[in-house]
Amino acid sequence: EELKAADARLALSEERFRLATEMSEIGLMDSDLLQPGQPFWLSYNWLYRLGLDHLPLPIERDTYIQRIHPQEQPERTKKFAALLAGDSSLYEMEYRIRDREEKWLWVLVRGSIIRDECGKPIRLIGTMTDISELKNREMQRYYQATHDELTSLLNRRGFMEAIAMRFTDRQPVTGAFLVVDIDGFRFINDVHGQEVGDEFLQAFARHLKDSFPQDTVLARFGAEEYLAFCPELMDAAAAINLFQPLAVVLLQTSAGSFAARSSGGFFLCGGQEGTPESYLQKAVLAMHHAKIVEKSACYIYEPSMQAMAVRRHAIRERLSQALQNQELFLQYQPIYAIEAITERVIGFEALLRWRSPSLGMVSPAEFIPVAEETNLILPIGEWVMREACQFFSGLDAQKGSAATVSVNVSVRQLLSPGFSNRVRSILQQCDLPPGQLGIEVTESIMMTDEQHNIAVLNELRAMGLSISLDDFGTGYSSFTYLQKLPIDVLKVDKSLIDEIAQPDRNALLLMESLVQMSRLLGYRIVAEGVENSDQLVLLRQIGCGACQGYLLGKPMSAEAVREQYPSIGS
Ligand code: C2E
Ligand code: MG
Ligand code: MG
Repeated sequence: EELKAADARLALSEERFRLATEMSEIGLMDSDLLQPGQPFWLSYNWLYRLGLDHLPLPIERDTYIQRIHPQEQPERTKKFAALLAGDSSLYEMEYRIRDREEKWLWVLVRGSIIRDECGKPIRLIGTMTDISELKNREMQRYYQATHDELTSLLNRRGFMEAIAMRFTDRQPVTGAFLVVDIDGFRFINDVHGQEVGDEFLQAFARHLKDSFPQDTVLARFGAEEYLAFCPELMDAAAAINLFQPLAVVLLQTSAGSFAARSSGGFFLCGGQEGTPESYLQKAVLAMHHAKIVEKSACYIYEPSMQAMAVRRHAIRERLSQALQNQELFLQYQPIYAIEAITERVIGFEALLRWRSPSLGMVSPAEFIPVAEETNLILPIGEWVMREACQFFSGLDAQKGSAATVSVNVSVRQLLSPGFSNRVRSILQQCDLPPGQLGIEVTESIMMTDEQHNIAVLNELRAMGLSISLDDFGTGYSSFTYLQKLPIDVLKVDKSLIDEIAQPDRNALLLMESLVQMSRLLGYRIVAEGVENSDQLVLLRQIGCGACQGYLLGKPMSAEAVREQYPSIGS
């Protein structure tokens, strides 16, 4: 009776257990490790899911293993061997397995070994659970964490992981790292809004994909920075060729098409010591070099760039002290009217100089961009204006003349609140009539808050200052654009003047039409960087009214101006 009752209890318990496992969707596996082929039992729910329900139990281990995804096979074999060898007592593994509809299921399999008295494995008992949903969510999260939402390219992390995956186990990295940065992208965002900016970036990403070989690893790094890794590419000329389609490209957006110009930096890696991070840094350095030296071009990393970056860093560090340590001073370069055969000085341009005790003379072309980035241009610019006004007001020679002193003004200064009021108070403090101060701006004022900048220029002009557009001919400006600007003087950049004496006469013809158009629009025109008398003669012939350059006068100290120019502007 007792035995019967015990049997019944056992049967009931087994039934419960069977139902419980079937409902919980957990599969139970029980494998006999002593028999050849190590056959095993699997609960019916899982036999069915895997399409093995037609086979007699126990099933062959191989039949089961064949259904596992090839990518997870090596890992599974390794773990299983470790388990049998006694290196681990628990077996835990995630893999994909084909179900009865030939779809991949992700399963988590856990098992443990039962051994005999001698420690020999005799039985393996385990469970399997469907974790597909979890895995898919995890993979989606991983995708999001490694991809850029806007362009669907990899992001920085995705890029680094893709590189790490390629170069496992001390295998040397060979190939080209490229960093691409779109020049002046902010302009599009500011002028046309972020939606158009996004379209522009997406179009650029598509262009990147189309321009590179299939095996290139591409990523978006920051707002307008992109990364590429081109495996095996080691040749400098081939690298520069590869960049060509990126230097300038016309991209379509719903607001029209825009030219994207980019600067790039390559690091060609032939298994040098370092990490992918350090290789990338070198490519970034080369890209920064391109930005400074020659936009819309690409450079290949060279160790000397490191020294230049160190210098830029030092400039950044020291510049903040330069003003209070009185390391800054001004030089003045005369501007001449050239209509008559004897030229006469009609003004001076104030040019900022920095003599640093540790860095020596630093060119404004080097430190002005740093001053702009760090906003130091605001106190420095104000100092320049005060210094120039003071100098000019104290110059007896200019009294009663129409000569001007011109000061270069950065767009940051125009954008700073109360700029025109500060100019007014400087003029008052220095007792200089506003008509004797000019400011020089570049067309970069059209790139940020053009309306505001135009309003400030109008205020200054109403006060009596003259406004020059500096470096004309180096950027994108067109005459239609120019008409919007309240300017009095057009300063034509040296790069055009350099060419006017060339035999092909193209630059001369261009300059001549600039002179004529300026006359129509009511601008005075100044040719910058006149270095030889051929240029001067030609400029005079085509009716250019004024010039500035080493031929007639180099930038000089305030004392030199006092000595050399007993009378000006008369
Ligand atoms: P910029 O305003 O176009 O000034 C003219 C530059 O050309 C000056 O260089 C001048 O020395 C140089 N130059 C003049 N004539 C000749 C010539 O015949 N041949 C050659 N090769 N060069 C000539 P610098 O002084 O190095 O200034 C470079 C730029 O730095 C200036 O270009 C201006 O954009 C900026 N800068 C200078 N001082 C200031 C300042 O006080 N504030 C701001 N914001 N920028 C300044
Ligand atoms: Mg200037
Ligand atoms: Mg200039």
